[in-house]
Amino acid sequence: MYRLFLIFGLLIVFFVLLKSIYRNSKLAGRSPGPSLDGDQMVQDPVCGVFVPRKNAIVKQGGEASTYFCSQECAAKFQEQPPN
Ligand SMILES: [Zn+2]
Repeated sequence: MYRLFLIFGLLIVFFVLLKSIYRNSKLAGRSPGPSLDGDQMVQDPVCGVFVPRKNAIVKQGGEASTYFCSQECAAKFQEQPPN
C-alpha cells in the first residue's frame, strides 16, 4: 500500500515537472522582444520610437488606442493628428 502512494506521488511530481518544462519551452520558443506578453513593443507615431506597452503613454482614440513614448509626443499628436 505504501508503495502505491510513493508511485502516485512520483507521478504527480513528474507531471508537475513536465508541465513546467513544457511551459518554459513554450516561452523560449517565442521570439524575444516585440511579442512577449506584458512587454509588447508599440510604436510611437510621432517620433517612431518603439516602447514597451507597459511603459507607454496611452491615448484612447475612436476605435484604437495610440501609444506614445512620452507626454510630449502625446501632446504633439493631439495638436496635429496625422490626418
Ligand atoms: Zn515619442
